[in-house]
Parts: sequence; C-alpha cells; structure tokens
Amino acid sequence: MYRPTIGLEIHAELKTRTKMFCSCANDPDETRPNVNICPICLAHPGTLPVANREAVRHILRVGTALGGALADYSEFDRKSYFYPDIPKGYQISQYANPLVVGGSLVGVELTRVHLEEDTARSIHVAGEAGDPERSERTAGRSLVDFNRAGIPLMELVTEPVIPDASTAGRFARELQLLLRTLGASEANLEKGEMRIEANVSVAKSQEPNLKNQTSTNDQNSKLGTKVEIKNLNSFRSVERAIDFEIKRQTKLLQEGGKVVQETRGWNEEKQETFHQRFKEGSADYRYFPEPDLPKLLISEIPEFGTEAIRASLPELPWLRRERYARDYALKENDIAYVSGTLERAAFFDAVAAALSNDSDNVRLAANYIVSDLAGIYAKKGNEDYESLDPNAFAKLIKLVKAQSLSSRGAKDTLALLVEGGGNEDPEIIAKEHDLIQVHDATALGAIVDSVIAREQKAVEEYRGGKQASLQYLVGQAMRESRGAGNPQELQKLLRERIG
Ligand code: ADP
Ligand code: ZN
Ligand code: MG
Repeated sequence: MYRPTIGLEIHAELKTRTKMFCSCANDPDETRPNVNICPICLAHPGTLPVANREAVRHILRVGTALGGALADYSEFDRKSYFYPDIPKGYQISQYANPLVVGGSLVGVELTRVHLEEDTARSIHVAGEAGDPERSERTAGRSLVDFNRAGIPLMELVTEPVIPDASTAGRFARELQLLLRTLGASEANLEKGEMRIEANVSVAKSQEPNLKNQTSTNDQNSKLGTKVEIKNLNSFRSVERAIDFEIKRQTKLLQEGGKVVQETRGWNEEKQETFHQRFKEGSADYRYFPEPDLPKLLISEIPEFGTEAIRASLPELPWLRRERYARDYALKENDIAYVSGTLERAAFFDAVAAALSNDSDNVRLAANYIVSDLAGIYAKKGNEDYESLDPNAFAKLIKLVKAQSLSSRGAKDTLALLVEGGGNEDPEIIAKEHDLIQVHDATALGAIVDSVIAREQKAVEEYRGGKQASLQYLVGQAMRESRGAGNPQELQKLLRERIG
C-alpha cells in the first residue's frame, strides 16, 4: 500500500496602494518596465524600509477568516540568497515569528500565513546576443523589471495532510475565492498573482509492530521523501502535476527505487514533471531578524485587535453557501455554481432580493442561472453578470412562475435580454417576439376548434378511450399557437370541447 501526502505553499500578491517597504505604486497592470521604482526597492545603500500597514492588515484578515491565531509578537527576517531579481541579496520575509499560525480551510490544517516581499521579474529574451540577423538590442539577454520588486506577498503553508490531487485543487480554488472575497488579492493564476507550489510524497504504509518503527506521534517519520513542484499555472495543472507525481513516485518505490528530494517543474505540453534542481535547506538562507524594521506588537495596535479584524470581515464563502442552503434550500451543485465567483454571487443575491427572497422563486432563479444563463455565457465565451440587470432577470423568473412564459419562451427571452445589453424589460421583449404564453380562453378556443375540425381521426380515437390521442391533439394545438399556448390550458379546453 502506497499512501500519497501533499502539502501546499501558496503565494499571493496583495492588493495595496503602495509596495511593502516603500511608497512606490503597487500596480500589477503597469506594462512599462521599471517605472514603479525607487532607491528603497532598488536596494540602494543607505535606504531603509518601512512596513506597509495595509499589507499587515490583509494577512491578519486572511488569518482570522481561516481561524488561525494572530501573533502577539511578530517580526521580519532576512532570507539571503543571490539572484539578479533580488537586489538586496536577501528577501525580507518572516521565519520564526509569522503573523498567523494555524487555521484550516476545507478541512486542511494550515501551518502558517506570513508576509514577505515579491522579487523583481526576470525576462529571458529569445534569440542569441549579438546575432547580426536580429535587430533587437535585447535578443538573447536576460532583462530585469523591478516594478514587481517589493510588492507585498502573502505566503500560506499547509501541513502535509492533503490526501489527493482533487482535495489540493479544491483547497486552492477555495483560497482564491476567499482572497477575492476579502479584497486581499486578485489572485489570478495566469497573471502570477497567485502561485501554487505542491509538495508531494508517497510513503509505503508500514506494517504495525515493525521493529524500526519510530514513535507513532511523529507524523513526518511516516511520510516519504517530498518533491516540490513549481510553475503550476492553473488549478488543472496543480491537480494533474500532483497525480503525475504520485504515479511516478509510486512506480519508483514499487521497482525498489528511492525518491530524491528535489524541485521539479511541470511541462504543460508533455503533461509531466521534470527535474529542475536539488533543493537547498533552510540553513542555506541564513535567516536572521531584519534589524532595519521594528518588531510588531500586534496585540497593542487597536485596529489589529482580534475583534476589530473579525468585525471587518465580509460574508465568507462557506458562510454564504450555508445561507443559500438554509434560506433557499438550494441543491448543493447549484450552491457551488452560484457562489463560485464573486460576480455570480453578487448577481444571485441581487436577484434573490428582487424576488423578496421567496425561496420557491429564488430556487427557480438559481435553476435558470445554472442552466440557461450559464449556457448563454458559455457560448459567448465570457460571463458578464455586471451588465445583466438583476431586476430584469427577476422579472423573467416571475413571468415563468406566472406561466406567462413557457420554459422554451423563457430561454429565448433570456437570450434576447442578454443580447440586447441586459437592461430591457423581459415582458416587452417577450411580447415583441410573440413569446408570451396565451392563457386567454377565446384566443386558445379558436385554436382548439380548428385543431378539432382538422384532426377528426384523433378526436374519434380519444373518444374511443385512447389517452395518447389527447396528447397528440395538445401537441397540434401548441404548434398552431407557435409555442405560445399554455399546454395545461389547451388540454383543458380540448377535453371540454371533445366531451
Ligand atoms: P522545507 O523546509 O523543505 O521548506 P517544510 O517542512 O517547511 O519543508 O514544508 C514545506 C511544505 O512541504 C509544506 O507545505 C509541507 O506541508 C510540505 N511537506 C513537508 N514534508 C512533506 C512530505 N513528506 N510530503 C509532502 N509534503 C510535505
Ligand atoms: Zn520603491
Ligand atoms: Mg519551508
């Protein structure tokens, strides 16, 4: 029996006005290189860092939302290493005294959440330097853009307790939703605003009573050697890379081999991990407390008090889902969908409010969001809840409920509503396109009469006791009304007139 274990390390760029230790703008959308820079984030000698209060507050809010313990005492540390993207020769991070310890998310225990600074961005330009065929000055060179240097970065570390790839994926998606809900980070993986590293090991389950078994409460003694996987640019890659790595390590162990501790990358084309480098130990980083920054006595800063932070939190994703189950008795899949992004949830809440939170109507609305609206947006290639007026959508739901729209008619009306920009009155749209179901007995009566006159054979069969013929006649009448007739109404009229 081989038992996989996964631990995640996740970085997220925090949304703040300025950088972590200087007053340069923190603008992830800046495309011109090296414009948001100053002597501090370029590490000129003689400059001193000042910690960003907004960034500290983000970490404390994330930590509180996750149920972690906020530090009374916290400090920054220098993590020394050499690379062109780290101009000081060290990164300011946190080591022994992080801002947050413990907590959990989707049942996965957390080790810690701490604050550090991002590195500059290295760009390796293709081609060969000095190639006379190439006109670009930069061909074959490595460039460094310092706009990102010193952006506040959250690092969250989980315990090695995740049993499989799908749980790891669920954890990462939920964390993204939480960071967005808190306004702490945009957390886009493609933009590198959220970066996920997965540590994977496989252990051969030990037989009980083996002589060499170490103390049972030592978790790590039961874990296999871990491999760290980097450059995972989507949730899907996270899951696939973990699955691949579990298989690779299991096979290695089965064949009598040994897993070596290393950092591996993920090759998206080949869908496999590959060796990058052997991992340095933490001793190599020569961590020591940063002498240029004051220690943080968190509990002495009123705005960082546990209660003040707690009171500042919006409705958290899992509480929102509980509310949807409790107030509207939505199905689990529908809850997962409508609460899956902030835009959807805001739209759904606004629709629910426009429907006076009537749970029958709200459930119907959820059905239409999950099926018809999702289908329309999938076809368009993007979700645009912001332009869709929740009141217009709510009115459409009311028209369905009142049977003024059939499900077919509602689908068409919704498509026209979205196409027209999302603000028109669905009743007017439906009327203009003859989509309103006709309940009017006179209008439907005329249709029924003409069907009876035309379909004498079916009429006789029904009179003779054949129930299916009635369905056939209803179908004919529906067709004659071009879908606008209400089927129950038509059936009632047919029954009355055939006798
Ligand atoms: P390092 O000192 O190499 O950074 P840590 O103990 O700090 O290692 O753990 C880093 C990450 O690796 C954490 O997310 C942790 O859960 C995970 N991890 C540690 N040991 C294992 C293991 N044996 N298998 C899987 N993940 C592990
Ligand atoms: Zn700066
Ligand atoms: Mg570590």
